[in-house]
Parts: sequence; structure tokens; C-alpha cells
Amino acid sequence: MILVTEAWNDIDSLRNMAWKETKLYSIVNFKCPYCHEGEFFVSHPYDLAKAGDLHPACTECGRKYSIEPGFYYGAMYVAYAIGVAMCVTAWVAMMVLAPGLGVLPQILIISAVMLLGGPFFYALSKIIWANMFFTYLGPPKGAPKA
Ligand SMILES: [Zn+2]
Repeated sequence: MILVTEAWNDIDSLRNMAWKETKLYSIVNFKCPYCHEGEFFVSHPYDLAKAGDLHPACTECGRKYSIEPGFYYGAMYVAYAIGVAMCVTAWVAMMVLAPGLGVLPQILIISAVMLLGGPFFYALSKIIWANMFFTYLGPPKGAPKA
């Protein structure tokens, strides 16, 4: 029984290691695209005064988050894709859940989804854009392993 538990723990830790090395881990957790440990954003997306503000460099590994001036303008393309995907998702959900809904309520609901989700989609677009250009380089040197 102990052997099985140990084997299971080994598999579990291996799976956690592999998951931590994926770009999706960095995106979902808003972590540094290089080391997946430092924070990417200064604050959470709904802290509107600091929405989408990045640290200039990783707090754990020290690598810079911007490789050239205006680097994050490209995140607009990602934000556009997320916006279209969310509008279509909201519209399809309405068609399935409330097929008889009028055009005006549809427009209001989709607008509400975009308005309320806006700060989150903005942050998401930046971390996705960063992960399109930066790759995982392992844990920061000298830092204790998780
Ligand atoms: Zn880092």
C-alpha cells in the first residue's frame, strides 16, 4: 500500500512538473513566461488603476518582460481574437438557453459580457502575447525548487 502511494506521488509530482512547464500554466496563473514563478502583472486585472500594468522584469528570475518599445501593442490582435470569441460564445449560449430573445437584449447581454470581462481579457491578451514570444527557461537560478 505504501509502495502504491509512493508511486502515485511520483506520478503526481511528474504531472505537476510537466504542467508547470507548459505555456498554459503561465497564461492561466499570470506567471512569468520565462520561469513560471514570478508575477507577470503588478496587480489583478480588476484593480482598474493598475489594470494590465506589468512589472518591468520578473521578480524571481529578473528577465525583462518587454523586448522592444511598444512590444505589447501586438497584444491588440490577441485581444481582438478573444473579444470575437467571447461575443460568439455569448451569442451561441443565448441561442441555446433563450432562443426567443430579442435583438436588443442580445446586444445588451453581449455588451455586458465585454464590459465586465474587458479588464480580464486585456490582461489575458498581454500574457498570451508574451507567451507567443518568450519560452520557458526553467526555474530561476538560486531559488528554492517548488
Ligand atoms: Zn521569471
